[in-house]
Amino acid sequence: MYALVDGNNFYVSCERVFAPHLVGRPVVVLSSNDGACIARSNEAKDIGVKMAQPWFQVRHLEKTAGLVAVSANHELYGDMSARMMAVEARYAPRQEVYSVDESFLDFDGVRDDLVDTGRAMRAAILRETGLPTSVGFGATKTLAKLANNIAKTADRKPGSYPAHLAQVCDFSRLSPDELDALFGATDVGLVWGIGRRTTEKLQAGGIATVRDLLRADAATLRRQFSVVLEKTLRELRGTSCMALDDAPAPRQQILVSRSFGTPITHVDGILEAASEFASRAAERLRQQGSVAGAIGVFFTTSAFRTADRQHNVNVTIPLVRPTADTAELLRAVEVAVRTQFRAGFRYAKAGAVLSELQAAGHAQGELDLFSTSEEPAPPAPDPRARLMQAMDALNNRFGRDSVRIGSTTMASRNAEVAVWATKQERRSPRYTTRWEEMPVVRA
Ligand SMILES: [Mg+2]
Repeated sequence: MYALVDGNNFYVSCERVFAPHLVGRPVVVLSSNDGACIARSNEAKDIGVKMAQPWFQVRHLEKTAGLVAVSANHELYGDMSARMMAVEARYAPRQEVYSVDESFLDFDGVRDDLVDTGRAMRAAILRETGLPTSVGFGATKTLAKLANNIAKTADRKPGSYPAHLAQVCDFSRLSPDELDALFGATDVGLVWGIGRRTTEKLQAGGIATVRDLLRADAATLRRQFSVVLEKTLRELRGTSCMALDDAPAPRQQILVSRSFGTPITHVDGILEAASEFASRAAERLRQQGSVAGAIGVFFTTSAFRTADRQHNVNVTIPLVRPTADTAELLRAVEVAVRTQFRAGFRYAKAGAVLSELQAAGHAQGELDLFSTSEEPAPPAPDPRARLMQAMDALNNRFGRDSVRIGSTTMASRNAEVAVWATKQERRSPRYTTRWEEMPVVRA
């Protein structure tokens, strides 16, 4: 038996823990540079704010509807997530952290009443972190996800589902008739793994609800759609096809990107931004003990600014040897930007992507084909790697950017260069991870 535990409106809830006056108000969290709404409270959803909607489109709701917008505070969310996951881990023998606010728990062999366990876990998370969650139980991961969705919806929209399923929903407790009624009232598009395109195709074929899908013929679905959909159907019918992945594989790609508060028109501005994003990505790369075989750089104009001429650059540069060395990566970034940049465009977003990742040790052990010596490269610690280690340690201790790799743009700083720097005018303090930003309680 699996559980899926999910934080409700997670980013907004993290903000509310330290700013209780935000409870009950429409709140959105804005992406970096305050560009788009990336999280919404229920109240914000109710006044019509859409996911990923650009901020300028809903800004007027500040005055007319009391909408509150805050800048994303990922350091806070990451730390709150770790605390939440640690509480959840106490309740089951195995846990798979699936995303920043979701984890699967494996209750196989646990004999306790699951609804009671779910309620106790939910209460403990709320008491110890201040974060509200929803809990769904099912025989497979897909069913646990769906049960979670129903627990959340029953809580948020009274009347949508039976009230006793709110907050904690255990499918194994329900009779076949009760389940059939639930599935008949649930859109097929809410099933984990069924995307918008597939939903439209299913609907066109008369499959609108989960109940319709359960009655469909597996072989026909596989023919018309894919084995993936057939697997989803088997999971919905209670046959587990996805195991708990409790040791997640290291990420296969590391992406750091951002939109600019003000468009950038100068090559130095793009170069500095792309270098900064590549440096951040390299930091994460070293954290997970990997090296990258390729680096991608992109910078684009904004499709929302319809009056602007559009130009989108997206290049991937293979690296001669896989590396985690920021200086080497920045050289590739510079080549990409200088060769691809076109004057006369207003670039609104840029990013760096590290790909073809592999374990650092593995790459080190390879024969050095580029060495002129006949001896294989010595396995002694690479001084460049040690330099990177020292840089990461210093930045960790004294704050980001205490030490950084200089790039040519630093010397030629012009007025535009610093424009990309994150504009996060509304960011809350990093209460739980910075001594100097700790909440102060007056008694
Ligand atoms: Mg969530």
